[in-house]
Amino acid sequence: MFRKSLCALALSFALVSVGNAAALVEPTLHLKLQRGGGRVALTLDACGGKTDTRILSALVENSIPATIFVTGIWLKRNAAAVEILRAHPNLFELENHGGRHIPAVDTPRKIYGISSAGSPDAVQAEVESGAAALASAGGPAPKWFRGATAEYSPSAIAMIRKLGFKIAGFSVNGDGGSLLGAKETARRIAAAKDGDVIIAHINQPTHAAGEGVVQGLLALKQKGMTFVRLDDAEDVGNDGTTD
Ligand SMILES: [Zn+2]
Repeated sequence: MFRKSLCALALSFALVSVGNAAALVEPTLHLKLQRGGGRVALTLDACGGKTDTRILSALVENSIPATIFVTGIWLKRNAAAVEILRAHPNLFELENHGGRHIPAVDTPRKIYGISSAGSPDAVQAEVESGAAALASAGGPAPKWFRGATAEYSPSAIAMIRKLGFKIAGFSVNGDGGSLLGAKETARRIAAAKDGDVIIAHINQPTHAAGEGVVQGLLALKQKGMTFVRLDDAEDVGNDGTTD
């Protein structure tokens, strides 16, 4: 009996240490600084749902380039927006946000209430189905991946790199998952500095944050900031995401 409970105790310690080993990372990404400076990259996630036409129209009207991370789900439901993105290849780079918006974490857990992929095979399926959805929507093959929630297990990062993708972290959380108010979103984006990679969302047309995204971008443009896409710059990520 004693022996049995000791085994159970040892097992629970083993589980705890596995849990610790699988600590998640939220990698950062910056643009390599250049002479002359004043460059930022705008990245917008299209997780699911609809299209924030306030943002899309502002980007087109003001010729602001952006890297858009789209999921297979969003591509299917937003044909009109996809057509606009494809019609402006000089402005928009489309990259891989996964097939079904499942966090690229290879152990079972919840991140912000979303269930992780839970296994290496499921991470691979999420990455490859996202790339396949983009390929079937036409246009160039994606080179960057950003997982749902932007959190990863280190082993998933290594695997995604082996699949041929760089992983897109960020350095400015512009809209707090599209949950911030317009004013705070505008303040955060307008405060971006040379070399920053901004993340915000383009799939929540009813959220106040979208209005703030537009205001913040226009403020940056007025300051003379240049917008580049991830593929147009040398990007430096930590946690083994780009090297
Ligand atoms: Zn997302």
